[in-house]
Amino acid sequence: MSASPFILLISGDGIGKEVIAEAEKIIHWLNDHHKTGIHTDTALLGGVAYDATGTPFPKETLEKAQKADAILLGAVGGPKWEALDYSVRPERGLLGIRKELGLFANLRPALCFDALADASTLKREVIAGLDILIVRELTGGLYFGEPKGVETLPNGEKRGFNTLTYTSSEIQRVGRVAFELAQKRGKKLCSIDKANVLESTELWRQEMIALSKDYPDVALSHMYVDNAAMQLVRNPRQFDVIVTENMFGDILSDCAAMLTGSLGMLPSASLGTKGKDGRQPALYEPVHGSAPDIAGQNKANPIATILSLAMLLRYSLDRGDLADLIEKAVTQTLADGYRTGDIMQPGMKQVSTTEMGDALVKAMNDQKQKGKAA
Ligand code: NAD
Repeated sequence: MSASPFILLISGDGIGKEVIAEAEKIIHWLNDHHKTGIHTDTALLGGVAYDATGTPFPKETLEKAQKADAILLGAVGGPKWEALDYSVRPERGLLGIRKELGLFANLRPALCFDALADASTLKREVIAGLDILIVRELTGGLYFGEPKGVETLPNGEKRGFNTLTYTSSEIQRVGRVAFELAQKRGKKLCSIDKANVLESTELWRQEMIALSKDYPDVALSHMYVDNAAMQLVRNPRQFDVIVTENMFGDILSDCAAMLTGSLGMLPSASLGTKGKDGRQPALYEPVHGSAPDIAGQNKANPIATILSLAMLLRYSLDRGDLADLIEKAVTQTLADGYRTGDIMQPGMKQVSTTEMGDALVKAMNDQKQKGKAA
């Protein structure tokens, strides 16, 4: 980590501003108590950027993003901008920043906090202690492959088509990210494909096997996507890191996310290619959207954003120790019974967005005191 890492904070729309403000409290705490020297700046993206500048992705935001060690984003979008032309919708801003930074690997952890295990639709014994990480290829595969379209056949019938295509280098770069993450975790990587039916994923499997020779400490396994969907619900704890192509990852990561409860608890990261200077473009954001139904009401759960900050510390600033601290504070705060409305359970203390942020800071202070006493 550099002496003064630069985090760009992009609040975006709706509850974005509220949840990013709580993450800022944690950054201040880290600077005060761990001399992290993190400095921040802010930039506009999405609807608020359109309102201020006429574009959802201003040039100034790109320039700041390119200089940042990492970006922490709230959310974009909302009903106010739904009637706009697609080219200037808030979501264009998000797609634009991902594209400009070349973010090809999407990381979605599914972590079950013990205090919330009973809130899952699955039985406690299936999900207690769950800690898996899905690495999804983000810029290739069926969503981007050419040719694609809808054509009219000579007999008048319509035909829709998309192309599932991957090159070796596209597979290798996301594969390397996944192997390296597995090395930092439980050293198990499961590659998901449909190699029995789809040639492009047969190549996927071959490339993963070839890569595994560079990572002898990681145990590589393979699973067909239909079986993986079943196993995620049957016995999710068998997985450590999962790597898969874009569409399979889209579906499986939503499935895995819901094992652990509310959208308000789910962080994510998107990573690009490491430059010659060793810097890797990286954007961290909660999985949820801008939640217009509760925006401006101090009701949003800030934990997904704060856990995204923990991922940022772990993967971009190489401060896994501080990420652990934040995750422990979340565990403690939930165990103490604090809940925002989305994760409220009978007998617990319902708190606002700002109160949840304060409770997390208090839990970090308590841990520090305990550390001193020990
Ligand atoms: P959403 O995630 O914003 O909200 C879905 C439901 O979950 C709502 O009831 C909301 O109140 C609740 N919720 C979401 N986050 C919460 C939190 N942190 N705390 C408590 N409750 C929370 O999804 P949506 O309603 O489908 O979309 C709303 C807007 O967000 C749309 O404009 C959509 O395009 C945008 N969106 C943006 C992103 C992003 O920025 N990455 C992702 C998804 C949706």
